[in-house]
Amino acid sequence: MLLDEFALIKNYFNRIENLSYYDVEEGIGDDCALLNIPEKQTITITTDTLVEHVHFLFDIDPADLGYKSLAVNLSDLAAMGAQPAWLTLALTIPQINEKWLTKFSNSLFEQMNCHSMQLIGGDTTRGPLSITLSVYGLVPIGCAIKRSGAKLGDCIFVTGTLGNSAAGLYLLQNRYELQDQLVQEMLINCHLRPIPRIKQGKALRNLATSAIDISDGLLSDIIHIMNASQVGVELNLELIPISEALHRYFEPQQALIWALTGGEDYELCFTASKVNLTAVHSALEYLNIPYTCIGQIVKKEQGLKLFKKSKLVDFHHKGFNHFGLL
Ligand code: ADP
Ligand code: MG
Repeated sequence: MLLDEFALIKNYFNRIENLSYYDVEEGIGDDCALLNIPEKQTITITTDTLVEHVHFLFDIDPADLGYKSLAVNLSDLAAMGAQPAWLTLALTIPQINEKWLTKFSNSLFEQMNCHSMQLIGGDTTRGPLSITLSVYGLVPIGCAIKRSGAKLGDCIFVTGTLGNSAAGLYLLQNRYELQDQLVQEMLINCHLRPIPRIKQGKALRNLATSAIDISDGLLSDIIHIMNASQVGVELNLELIPISEALHRYFEPQQALIWALTGGEDYELCFTASKVNLTAVHSALEYLNIPYTCIGQIVKKEQGLKLFKKSKLVDFHHKGFNHFGLL
């Protein structure tokens, strides 16, 4: 515990605007928070830790860090179709830096308020910079979207476009400047400020048979659906949605590798039965984020197969870096 931990919590994290939610009987201040769970709801719980040098670059703006540490957790809720409700924050900081804490906490609260969430507790310690958030959401009983529900013949979809976040990271790490400043900022923003697809997740309750958020990269993440659902997957590489910016500024094979393996796009990958395609369309179209069918669920024995213009891509042997040669 830091010497003036209590002042720090009071100044930065125990905010008036954050005290009013009816389901929180006790928030920050007692030994435990007390939550009154609304009837007929299931709580969804997720935790993510961001560690300096491992999950973010040392010179990251604390406002971006505050944003991203919540966004990556919210993305997990989105994948289950949950509504965000509460969070706890375990903060380890090397020293008390008021400017840093102001920027970090303002940005955290800004996003929390967008989702009407309440910070209900946490822990504060001194050490190498690390942020652990636990985020709690609600979903009507029986309505959470799991990884395990994909069925033979289901279509596989992704929201948005893939690969922008990896391109943004590339620009940051290599201090590379694109000619177009707006595109440069857009790609970096995709990396630093991914938008959790909460609305899409909620709209897909009772429609998606399975879902996952794309944090590690489409190919790694879809394997989780395959394993949990005991199915195989066929993806059509020419259908993978890649942004205009990536098309314009990067080689096609580089863009595709980022889209398939880059990760941190925090888009949703979900499956839905073909009979529900119209319903999926009605649920998602007014949310103004495109979604694309990229393949279908097949028998487990078929494993993961990638096709390019109907030709099977032998990526197991040649590795991802050879897509361009195929
Ligand atoms: P305890 O020692 O009983 O675990 P602490 O002294 O660590 O409690 O914390 C006091 C109160 O402040 C608790 O309600 C705790 O949840 C809250 N708290 C501590 N650190 C944070 C933080 N970084 N953000 C929000 N709440 C915090
Ligand atoms: Mg205690």
